[in-house]
Amino acid sequence: MAFEIGRRQFLTAALGSSALTYGAVRARPVSAQVATSAKIVIIGAGAAGAALANRLSTRLDGAEITIIDARKRHLYQPGFTLIAAGLKPSGYSVTATSDWLPRSVNWIEEGAAEIDPEAKTVTTETGTTVGYDYLVVAAGLKLNYDQIEGMDVSLIGKDGIGSVYASPEAAEATWREMDRFTDEGGVGLFTRPATEMKCAGAPLKYTFLTDDYARRKGNRGKTEIVYAAHSKSLFGVPIVNEKVRMLYDERGFDTRYEHVMKAIDPGRKVATFATPEGDQEIPFDFTNIIPPMSAPDVVRNSPLPWADKWVGEGYVEVDPFTLRHRRYPEVFAAGDVAGVPKGKTAASAKWQVPVVEDQLVAQIEGREGEEVYNGYTSCPLITRVGRAMLIEFDYDNNLVPSFPGVIAPLEELWVSWLMKEIALKATYNAMLRGRA
Ligand SMILES: Cc1cc2nc3c(=O)[nH]c(=O)nc-3n(C[C@H](O)[C@H](O)[C@H](O)COP(=O)(O)OP(=O)(O)OC[C@H]3O[C@@H](n4cnc5c(N)ncnc54)[C@H](O)[C@@H]3O)c2cc1C
Repeated sequence: MAFEIGRRQFLTAALGSSALTYGAVRARPVSAQVATSAKIVIIGAGAAGAALANRLSTRLDGAEITIIDARKRHLYQPGFTLIAAGLKPSGYSVTATSDWLPRSVNWIEEGAAEIDPEAKTVTTETGTTVGYDYLVVAAGLKLNYDQIEGMDVSLIGKDGIGSVYASPEAAEATWREMDRFTDEGGVGLFTRPATEMKCAGAPLKYTFLTDDYARRKGNRGKTEIVYAAHSKSLFGVPIVNEKVRMLYDERGFDTRYEHVMKAIDPGRKVATFATPEGDQEIPFDFTNIIPPMSAPDVVRNSPLPWADKWVGEGYVEVDPFTLRHRRYPEVFAAGDVAGVPKGKTAASAKWQVPVVEDQLVAQIEGREGEEVYNGYTSCPLITRVGRAMLIEFDYDNNLVPSFPGVIAPLEELWVSWLMKEIALKATYNAMLRGRA
């Protein structure tokens, strides 16, 4: 039984120090500045890209650092679940990208359109070509709603269609549909794609939250919850899968395995799933659609992806420990776009970015890098409003709790909920500044 720390004690511990959850406290060693005239290009100014730009601009003296990203809004995506639960407004997840980038970094405000790792250049959407000595790909991943026949983001918030992933506004529209559904009852249909995805716990969390609201409103009796899993399990880490399966049974969810959503008919309120027995239709009154995902086209269509892994999804072929490209040693990847077997969470980015910093700076200095990434992935798995399980694991599916003896990973705790609701954003912001 985990020892629950008191509210006051937790907040003092968490908010009084600058590094909070997400792999616990990682004191940043003071490293000497390295003088260099290296040209470094970072593609993507999201969680991983902004954090790395800050760390490299502090660490390097004289480097020419360019970051390429068209997105003017920085999106704190872990907040989308809270917005879609009616607990935060959409503005909770939105800041300006410019707020997070150091002044010494040159920001090109457009998308990267082409990467040529032989010529060591990146070309932008308007045709500007930028040369590099080192390239860090941190372009996140792409939501492919068009791969679900009949689906379009303009449908989110209408006819029972929700989708927490698309944007903070979509998350808010999803909340309105979920709120209505848990008043009226009917069939709630939840699913996840068969591709790699960011925060694989998010589809599970939202199913739990919808169930919780239906219960709180006294309407669970007229509500059916169907969860369509893409494979034979609910979560990739066996011990976590077993726990979630038990909770799903306890909460009375109708779980269908090996169901992959392929089409939606908003008029009929029916979704079609590919299954081993052929296509099957499931009707819904509310659904949270999570689209297939891939690396952004600029990466997927470049020479950088794995040829024999995640085929068609286009994740960057990096060594899982150093995050250095296996064929182009001056190229690195960080965040969701990295082709590694775990780690598509912001918490993972927090651990990947210092590794890329160390390995890249080591290369500049002509020494071996020391930092390695162990696959750390974290998911505060909300099971009801006010309760969560703080799931943390590595490449080997070992549970690696940040607070052993204090926060038990597989227990539904209030303190784990606070990690998600309060501490996560502060940690995330510290990471963006390169301080965590
Ligand atoms: C609903 C939801 C809930 C989540 N919950 C959690 C959670 O509880 N805990 C957790 O740790 N993580 C969570 N995550 C995952 C987390 O948000 C991501 O893993 C994290 O943001 C990844 O960082 P990134 O830098 O790789 O990608 P992003 O932060 O998405 O940034 C990618 C950047 O690349 C840019 N880009 C894309 N294409 C190009 C291009 N062609 N040229 C230039 N730039 C480009 C984009 O504009 C963007 O700014 C959640 C995500 C979602 C959607």
